[in-house]
Amino acid sequence: ERTSSNGEQNKYPDTKKFKEETKNTANRDELKRFPRYNYFSKREKIKLDRTTKELELLEADAEKYGLSNLTKTEQESIITKREIINILKQKLESISSQNSFHLYDASSTQYHNNVHEKNGYHKDSKKSRQRQWEERQLSYAINHNEPNSEDIIIPGTKHYDFVFDEEAMIDYTDDATDVINEDEVGKNDYDQRLLKALQDEKEKVLTISETRKKLPVYQYREDLLKAIHDNQILIVVGETGSGKTTQLPQYLVEDGFCQNGKFQIAVTQPRRVAATSVASRVADEMNVILGQEVGYSIRFDEKTTPDKTILKYMTDGMLLREFLIDPHLSKYSCIMIDEAHERTLATDILLGLLKDLTTRRKDLRILISSATMNATKFSEFFFNCPIFNVPGRRFPVDIHYTCQPESNYLNACITTIFQIHTTQPLPGDILVFLTGQEEIEKAQENIENIVDKLGNNIEPIFVRPIYANLPQEQQELIFQKTPKNCRKVVLATNIAETSLTIDGIKFVIDSGYVKENSFIPSTGMSQLLTVPCSRASVDQRAGRAGRVGPGKCFRIFTKWSYYNELEMMPKPEIVRTNLSHTVLLLLSLGVTDLINFPLLDKPTITALKKSLEQLYSLGALNSKGSITQLGRMMCDFPCEPQYSKVINSAATHEQCKGALDECVTVVSMLHETTSLFIGKKNNNPNSVAVKGELESDHMMYLKIYNEWVHNNYSKIWCHDHHFQHKTLLRVRNIRQQLMNTCKKLGLVSKNEIALRESANEIMNTLETRVAKAFISGFSMNIAELGSNGSYHIVGAVSSSGGIDVVIHPSSVVSRNLRESGKKPYKHILYQQLMYTSREFIKDCLPINNVSLIKEMAPQLYKRLN
Ligand code: ADP
Ligand code: MG
Repeated sequence: ERTSSNGEQNKYPDTKKFKEETKNTANRDELKRFPRYNYFSKREKIKLDRTTKELELLEADAEKYGLSNLTKTEQESIITKREIINILKQKLESISSQNSFHLYDASSTQYHNNVHEKNGYHKDSKKSRQRQWEERQLSYAINHNEPNSEDIIIPGTKHYDFVFDEEAMIDYTDDATDVINEDEVGKNDYDQRLLKALQDEKEKVLTISETRKKLPVYQYREDLLKAIHDNQILIVVGETGSGKTTQLPQYLVEDGFCQNGKFQIAVTQPRRVAATSVASRVADEMNVILGQEVGYSIRFDEKTTPDKTILKYMTDGMLLREFLIDPHLSKYSCIMIDEAHERTLATDILLGLLKDLTTRRKDLRILISSATMNATKFSEFFFNCPIFNVPGRRFPVDIHYTCQPESNYLNACITTIFQIHTTQPLPGDILVFLTGQEEIEKAQENIENIVDKLGNNIEPIFVRPIYANLPQEQQELIFQKTPKNCRKVVLATNIAETSLTIDGIKFVIDSGYVKENSFIPSTGMSQLLTVPCSRASVDQRAGRAGRVGPGKCFRIFTKWSYYNELEMMPKPEIVRTNLSHTVLLLLSLGVTDLINFPLLDKPTITALKKSLEQLYSLGALNSKGSITQLGRMMCDFPCEPQYSKVINSAATHEQCKGALDECVTVVSMLHETTSLFIGKKNNNPNSVAVKGELESDHMMYLKIYNEWVHNNYSKIWCHDHHFQHKTLLRVRNIRQQLMNTCKKLGLVSKNEIALRESANEIMNTLETRVAKAFISGFSMNIAELGSNGSYHIVGAVSSSGGIDVVIHPSSVVSRNLRESGKKPYKHILYQQLMYTSREFIKDCLPINNVSLIKEMAPQLYKRLN
């Protein structure tokens, strides 16, 4: 702790903590996304002083000998130095004048006054003490021209150490000025680079404040706020990119909706990437650190600070879960359901719950925001509430169709990219709509190969992917400004259709496909399927080309297909997906009359019945249809009921007892299998880590995770064995959260007791216990070997047609069968059903004795052959 000479302790307590926090790389990454322009580092301060002195000398020479008699380098140097000084001084000024966002004074008048308040030291001011300290130190240091002094004297006080923590700040900054070594690169070069870095920073800050004002919603700020005050529920409709998601919530904060931190504002997003990316952008705009005043909450990942976060971006599913904890959502003063037109299951349910809540909480404001589709439907649903239309700009977009249907849309997309690049002038970035991560990675690889081959024959292209599982640091890259004479190609899923807006797009290439969660009646499960988009979607996609100026859209399908084959509107998720989880949630919220629950679109009775059956077979409902204790417990887990059943069995079932740790690990791994392996995921991982006798993919995942733990969570170990370190870190996090829930529900202690009690008994092997736990949860995912030699799905719920499936070649089970020539197992449990060229089952667990099914899933056993 720092102690001042007069014995006063810890005057600036934030500083030390801050320094420690910034040591942590995760935090550093977070800070990197922050415009550096918000800080003035020690090095910059020294640079300013030194450059000033150097410039003085140069200018003195210029006066003495005449400017034209100086060398060219000296002349240029004068210009550079003047510019550097200019920018640094501006920066310093802007920091000491504006840099304070007064959250707790956010009631509108106070807010505006305070923003303009200068940097005087007010003991009671909520402005960060550290920042005040920095500002004073800096202005003092500069005014007194004592660049090398570590001791700063504040008038009226005694000596203090120089606690302005500049080192920490330099640490996390990201630009070249802090890593280039002046001695190595030579002074002039150094100055040039510094200048460039400073200009970039400045631009970023200017762009932020300018873009904010240029956005269409800005003009309607006052009208919008008035409409929100006058109406408890308001629908806001506007062209994508008009600023609904990023600006509206900020207006609410500025207008005092948080009442000095007493209330929060929640903004829901249908997609995880949108929630995190937008939160990060808004934190930048509000000049706060992500996770503090502005945070996000998505499943398995929450970045908020209790008592501090006032604006929270979250997935719609997370808000739904909050209803369980507090059915009045009493900590919120305003809830914005964003991207309502997406009509995800969670959004639809939220709308129903909120409709009911508005009658109980008259003070709660609801904003429904939607792109320009089906707004009247929302209004009718919400007692004919008003619709606020934000007129947007949209430039004309030329639509081009293919003349014939293309059999391989991915190749067609890639060809089109190069067609555009070689014929259309720069600038003008390209946005390509594809369906998923795998496809995007493949496309990126292809494009980059071609670019390599073409070399200098074309202008540079750089490719930026964006999809749901992309790590957050990389998400930011899509927003990077395209350098001159260069073209950015963004490969996106339909996340870029309305949720994220990338500036500078002039060309859109649309595959016309989307991955959709669909309910497969023959299996009673939901699967991600690639399906053609609706007309509304492809029109929305085309619109992305017309934001900055006239644009062009290339559709990889025919005009005939557009008019004759595409549906008008996308189907809302509620009519096409498995409802078990939602039904369980509604039941535990006390909504028993499922048929009359207010919904924009009702699910079919068959779908409802199926999910009730499924819940009954899991033991979440009793025969009267009311929720059981197990059912309530399942609601507490942040995962599908089947997984919670597995976890519960692992800890408590007579036959699996003591397998909790292992099962939680496997469940966590199963949530992240898509990005576990580096390189071709469909290949078997040929690594030592997973060699040996492995019967199932489940045991393989368990082994991978445990080996990683055993190797101290090592990154190098991951690299050596071709696993993605980031994915395993996420698994670790998921595991931690599941374990926390287990602890809360008493499962951990039950598991320990079971282990202790059975220490002397002969127990089932671990494999068997894990298999049993999974059978208890996933009895509907069991395939049986038929007399014709192929597997068909049995399914625990009602009779099903029994489609034929094949074990995916990537599965350990498939490998074992191929390599050992073993007799195929009669029954196999699988976690994923994949429709590609054939119906594959993935992540498989062989059941080598039918008695396991008899014990764990008697209702299914009766129906086996
Ligand atoms: P809407 O919700 O109405 O579609 P948004 O509020 O998402 O609009 O976007 C408003 C503007 O903010 C867009 O022009 C977009 O380019 C910009 N923007 C959003 N996120 C970022 C980001 N991470 N980086 C740079 N610009 C961004
Ligand atoms: Mg938006």
